[in-house]
Amino acid sequence: MEKILNYINGELVEPTNGNYLDNYNPSNGEVYSLIPDSEKQDIDNAVAAAKEAFKSWSKTTKQERSEILMKLADSIDKYSEELIKAESKDNGKPETLAAHVDIPRASSNIRFFAGAILHDSSEMHEMDGIAINYTLRNPLGVAACISPWNLPLYLLTWKIAPALATGNTVVAKPSEVTPMTAYLLSKICIEAGFPKGVLNIVHGLGSKTGDPLTTHPDTPIVSFTGGTVTGKHIATVTAPMFKKLSLELGGKNPNIIFADADFDKAVSTAARAAFTNQGQICLCGSRIFVQEEIYEKFKIALVAKTSNLKVGDPKDISSDLGAVVSKGHMEKILSKIEQAKQLGGKILIGGKREIFEGELKDGYYLQPTIIEGLPFDCDINQEEIFGPVVTIIPFKTEQEVIEMANSTKYGLSASIFTENISKGHRVAANIDAGVVWINTWLLRDLRIPFGGMKQSGIGREGGFKSLQFFTEPKNVCVKI
Ligand code: NAD
Repeated sequence: MEKILNYINGELVEPTNGNYLDNYNPSNGEVYSLIPDSEKQDIDNAVAAAKEAFKSWSKTTKQERSEILMKLADSIDKYSEELIKAESKDNGKPETLAAHVDIPRASSNIRFFAGAILHDSSEMHEMDGIAINYTLRNPLGVAACISPWNLPLYLLTWKIAPALATGNTVVAKPSEVTPMTAYLLSKICIEAGFPKGVLNIVHGLGSKTGDPLTTHPDTPIVSFTGGTVTGKHIATVTAPMFKKLSLELGGKNPNIIFADADFDKAVSTAARAAFTNQGQICLCGSRIFVQEEIYEKFKIALVAKTSNLKVGDPKDISSDLGAVVSKGHMEKILSKIEQAKQLGGKILIGGKREIFEGELKDGYYLQPTIIEGLPFDCDINQEEIFGPVVTIIPFKTEQEVIEMANSTKYGLSASIFTENISKGHRVAANIDAGVVWINTWLLRDLRIPFGGMKQSGIGREGGFKSLQFFTEPKNVCVKI
């Protein structure tokens, strides 16, 4: 069986304790490879390599770093077929989704920051002929980059690219649930002649590998994407060490459909926002608020649209949904559906595990599910489920829907559907969310600072904000 290896100081190495964990293929429930069960010693080795490499990497010019990163992006494109298959096999998502979203975005993340670093500028403040103040921005050292399983290579590259472009070196810890594309990336780095020690990837569990990484005295900067509970833990352990911290966390995003919306567009976008990647995108619209006048008509159309979605083999190009990421996660989602029923929720469609014959019989497939009849403030409408399960809730007025939308502890994203321009802008301004889309969903401009409000995160990643996050500002005042 294939053994995934750690990537430390430019080499693929076994975990120092020699232990491995099983890696499952969600489409059939089989173990298909082994993941290093790394621990503190491996992190210490990776951080030491990254610290050593920082001495020379931080001295390279922006142009040199940009060229090296561009070459890495080209190598990702060269191996895109292999990466697409690996991403789908590791995660359960349809290959078509990996081919259209995850893998192209991984190389475009790297290209974006390789370009951005060349066009960044620093601030200057002039004091009426008395003095000028300018800001230098220096890399900090070794960046700890921790990523989740839902968009494995996409989110890993979103962190490592700005960290590396600004002259930091990196120790990355991908999710233990989906390690394969990060492993392929380390092989790609070796083939592309990526400088040793500049990027290191250590695989393993959050408690045994993530904790020693975030609390390591030589990782002054931590960039984390994952669940809110883990984010809270990382904030707690890193705060006394005064680390620079970015947290991109969970969401419970509202999708608000006004009666004057373009009906067909709203229905199809709401279905896409609900079920893309089996509902396992932090930005998925999991609470669909629909204005009373069109509630019944919208509900019928959304259920009809959902009934046309095909759950099936991730390798089959006609599959709209594949498997959810793990058995444990599937069971958690099913228990949430049960809880919804007990709270009085009515299942309009779905609600069950999808069982197939043959090879896929032990896969973790769930039917796309829509639930109505639950109060906006019940647990199901307040906590992230992170699966193909959405609720639909009627509302009367603009004010009422703003209050319901803002009622959760999260504030990641929101979508608003209306043909009334003023209303769209007005509601957007009043929704607690780091990203608000009007008449669309998941349309991303990489220059825009990305991130959540409230318990969806702190800091903003993306665009020039990421370049700022991964550097330390130093202000110099010159008397003239
Ligand atoms: P998770 O928090 O369980 O794990 C994320 C990563 O943190 C994994 O690599 C894990 O091994 C690591 N980790 C776990 N415990 C750790 C610890 N004590 N110290 C350091 N690292 C530790 O999240 P998940 O289940 O992998 O991902 C799903 C969550 O991620 C959802 O809540 C989703 O909303 C969120 N997410 C947020 C964004 C965003 O941009 N805001 C994007 C994608 C996913």
